[in-house]
Amino acid sequence: MQWTVRLETRTSAAEVTTTELVTFSRPGVVSTLAEVGLMLAETKSLLAKLQASMLCGQVAAYAAHHRVCAACGALQPLKDRRTRRLQTLFGTVEVEAPRFKVCGCRQSVLLAGVTVSPVCALLIARCTPELERVQAELGARTSFRDAARLLDTLLPASPTNQESVRIRTHAIALQLEAADRQAAAEVMPVPDEPAKAAAADASRPVVMLDGAYIRAVPGHQVRNFEAVCGKIEHEGHPTRRFALVRSVAEQPHALLRAVLQGQGWREGDTVTAISDGDLALPALVRSATGGPVEYILDWFHLSMRVHHVEQVMEGLCALEPPLLVPLDQAWIDVERLRHLLWNGHHEKACEALGPITSWAKEASVLNEPAAEAKFRRLAARCAELRSYIESNEGALIDYGERCRAGKPISTSRAEGTVNQLVNARMNKRQQMRWSLRGAHRVLQVRAAVLDGRFGHPAIQLAA
Ligand SMILES: [Zn+2]
Repeated sequence: MQWTVRLETRTSAAEVTTTELVTFSRPGVVSTLAEVGLMLAETKSLLAKLQASMLCGQVAAYAAHHRVCAACGALQPLKDRRTRRLQTLFGTVEVEAPRFKVCGCRQSVLLAGVTVSPVCALLIARCTPELERVQAELGARTSFRDAARLLDTLLPASPTNQESVRIRTHAIALQLEAADRQAAAEVMPVPDEPAKAAAADASRPVVMLDGAYIRAVPGHQVRNFEAVCGKIEHEGHPTRRFALVRSVAEQPHALLRAVLQGQGWREGDTVTAISDGDLALPALVRSATGGPVEYILDWFHLSMRVHHVEQVMEGLCALEPPLLVPLDQAWIDVERLRHLLWNGHHEKACEALGPITSWAKEASVLNEPAAEAKFRRLAARCAELRSYIESNEGALIDYGERCRAGKPISTSRAEGTVNQLVNARMNKRQQMRWSLRGAHRVLQVRAAVLDGRFGHPAIQLAA
């Protein structure tokens, strides 16, 4: 049996032309399941021919339309015929790009000998925007090599080498960044007083920040470098992710500012930032907004440090035979810490840490060899917690109250973002090493892809 696919083209002038694209053959009676239906190779060749036919027809019509002089309606004389190549998802197509001399009616001294090439004006890039976007999306989701393989397997796209995927991913990242910088530079209308009051009542955008480490390519001064990842939540707006490598991002604050604006933030509105105690992170938010920032220390990181104290204390209580030193009072004091910090009484927590520390120091010299190291560790953990509280004093709040109000108190959701953005694409398991710039750019595209800002509903592969 044979199947022939013909393409019928109908122009706007109602002219119809028919082009034969491909013919597939099979035995009259198939003998295996594998012979049933279209094969991938056949489909690729069909798509490539369909693309070439359609594209050449469109470009020829475009050139013919622009050959007509806009001033007098005469055909401009042909100077020469050249060709241009365009890379598409369905193969590279060579198209005719005729050049015309400027019409005699417009010939002046200035335009003498000038030629025009309308096709070159149309084909401003070497590839279609769709090919660039798909390559970038795949390159952001998986390794450049796998992305190239995937494209090569399924489509007649060309070129399909990993280098082109890398270049296109970087190109899209630059476009995204440029768009962010432009959005950040736009002057926003200053809200009037009633609008300001309404904004103060409404929920604030919450920026949750966290850092992630990426292995650097050899030759860098560092083995690992940090990427700042985050998530912005604001009631009534879809959540936005963002990530950047501070030292190579052209304007890190502009990037964050653009994301905030996209989330409905307006000049002068207070932003809430939650992070782990790295002061550079809230500083980034401050430079992005240029205005008030309510900085909250992440409850999870604080709670972990309390947990360290509790763990050592539990270890002391569980010692066999039981210690001669009475532990009851110390145990009560330790148990209070979490409660005090949760309810915003960090000063009292600091006060409570004093007696525990001095008790642990005294007990460590009471000739209890089994417990000596544990007492020392308890004193050290308490000192750590105390200095953590003191250095983040301004960022400690009544977590219980905020939690009961249904507001976020932790960056745990930002940690999920770190996993999605960085670890799933750049982790050590994949043995990947990154340049700072390369990582930064892939992260721009990846954040856009994961947010669904990339507009490619047809391709929703698992990231
Ligand atoms: Zn003319």
